[in-house]
Amino acid sequence: DENRLTAAQKRPEDIDAALRPKSLSEFIGQEGARDNLRIFIEAAKLRGDALDHVLFFGPPGLGKTTLAQIMAAEMGAGFRATSGPVITKSGDLAALLTNLEDGDVLFIDEIHRLNPVVEEVLYPAMEDRVLDIMIGEGPAARSVRIDLPKFTLVGATTRQGLLTTPLRDRFGIPIRLNFYTHDELELVVRRAAHLLNLNISPDGAMEIARRARGTPRVAGRLLRRVRDFANVAGAAIVDKAVADDALTRLEIDALGLDLMDRRYLMMIADIYKGGPVGVETLAAGLSEPRDTVEEVIEPYLIQLGLIARTARGRCLNDRAWKHLGLTPPVTKEN
Ligand code: ADP
Repeated sequence: DENRLTAAQKRPEDIDAALRPKSLSEFIGQEGARDNLRIFIEAAKLRGDALDHVLFFGPPGLGKTTLAQIMAAEMGAGFRATSGPVITKSGDLAALLTNLEDGDVLFIDEIHRLNPVVEEVLYPAMEDRVLDIMIGEGPAARSVRIDLPKFTLVGATTRQGLLTTPLRDRFGIPIRLNFYTHDELELVVRRAAHLLNLNISPDGAMEIARRARGTPRVAGRLLRRVRDFANVAGAAIVDKAVADDALTRLEIDALGLDLMDRRYLMMIADIYKGGPVGVETLAAGLSEPRDTVEEVIEPYLIQLGLIARTARGRCLNDRAWKHLGLTPPVTKEN
């Protein structure tokens, strides 16, 4: 199969694009989200109308961009993508909006990072599909109203709570994406291996799935690294042993935690005796932005029940002490 061979030779970003499911039926997992989207798309098509605005929220790499592209494809509409921090002036957004065509999907990633001035322009655009722009300066300045095409805005954010209320209220369809199960990720890995023309056994795929932090993007990344090890070792098939060996060399542990996850846990254990410790303190100690700690590192550790977010800060749970092979300090409270 020629397509598969070329996919294998492409650069990582291209491979990412090549691995993206192109339709709702190809998309694995997130059943609730998929079922709802299918109905909303069908209904919009029946009415001959654009789809209502959709907000996806959930940790990075769970398929927000992919679903936005699929929505456009299923609607038979065009797709434009940008991101919150990239749109610095209201004129940038106005240019984007006026260039859209009826039915188009405009995808804004990291929509919580929109400049407030730009966000104001978005409100009437979303609600009434109009744009109010100022022409001229000083006493001669006047406001002009421009009608916009019937577009669909798809916003993505790592946490719903980061959005301002007026912006959040303007999305008719809020959809939360959750971490994937091991079985779902196994399918993601097998599908990706097939597209990469890589021979993998079911238990090899499951081993990668188990250690992929519940995240398809991580599964894809681990699969590519495992493939490198398999190629160099001359392995004809990626089985459980090959996958386990490669992942262990990559310092991905049995729970799928990487070096950063373990540094995070060790810091709370070692320096703060299990917590509570504030997120700012942890971020400074890890030399990572607070956003990364809260949106990338912590959600999966919370999902696994390793840590708890409390009002006074982050605390290690028993499971984390066990996983680190450490004994929790005896506290006076008990
Ligand atoms: P997000 O926008 O949430 O950060 P993306 O949509 O960019 O995530 O997805 C990250 C990667 O994971 C993409 O390469 C995509 O191919 C893959 N992916 C995401 N969801 C799925 C899925 N359900 N099935 C297969 N691959 C997926």
